Amino acid sequence: MSSIEGKVVVITGASSGIGEATARLLASRGAQVVLGARRIANLRNITSSIRSEGGRADYRELDVTDENQMIDLIQYTMDTFGKVDVIVNNAGIMPLSKLEALKVDEWNRMIDVNIRGVLHGIAAGLPIMKEQGGGHFINISSIGGHEVSPTAAVYCATKFAVRAISEGLRMEVGKEIRVTNISPGVTESELAESISDERARQVMKEYRKNAIPSEAIARAIQFAIEQPADVDVNEMIIRPTANE
Ligand code: NDP
Repeated sequence: MSSIEGKVVVITGASSGIGEATARLLASRGAQVVLGARRIANLRNITSSIRSEGGRADYRELDVTDENQMIDLIQYTMDTFGKVDVIVNNAGIMPLSKLEALKVDEWNRMIDVNIRGVLHGIAAGLPIMKEQGGGHFINISSIGGHEVSPTAAVYCATKFAVRAISEGLRMEVGKEIRVTNISPGVTESELAESISDERARQVMKEYRKNAIPSEAIARAIQFAIEQPADVDVNEMIIRPTANE
């Protein structure tokens, strides 16, 4: 097994849910984690909590829809820690609704955060990883990137896109840079709070009863990182046992 100890790991959307759990778990295994998200009060608290347990954590304010902020985060990480071993493109939103509700603003926000955000992470990190001669992108898609469900057409489209981008990236740079696409099933987090459509919210509330803890996805990320450098875990699906 290659060690996580000493790896520099940038995590987008680290202010709650899967991103937070990943930061905590990887820091507990000796990684230097750099957390990015918009809610800096959350980032400050999570970072202090990790440090109080002996972990190494830092944070920067980040809106993944702004390419320059993503570049700044990666440059800050390079300037401070001298390398970027892993970028976890995790930030995402899920304001579900039927297409016929015509919530065009929410469609655009999902496209901006879930697709452009991942692309911005790749654009900021790829030149540095190429220069370093190695690195690892971990992109968080969804079970919604494998199958479409009612009220989730646009969300699923963004998550199909994340899988397509991950696979395309692997084909281009996979000889020197690892690419992992992770597709969680229903997982405890704040994700459903972005749903403004009342009916979609109720359906999702029922569906989320079997949610697994966000640490389950963090463990999958840990597994991918700790493989030996010549082993690239390309695709993982993690679902609650209780779901079909
Ligand atoms: P949370 O809502 O708890 O976390 C989402 C994170 O994304 C937050 O930290 C939020 O931080 C961040 N974020 C949202 N918009 C932006 C932005 N513009 N710039 C930077 N960060 C942003 O939900 P999850 O932990 O569940 O979500 C993490 C990923 O997992 C998402 O990509 C989601 O689609 C995916 N996923 C989750 C599943 C689940 O059931 N929970 C299932 C399948 C996939 P802030 O608001 O502070 O910016």
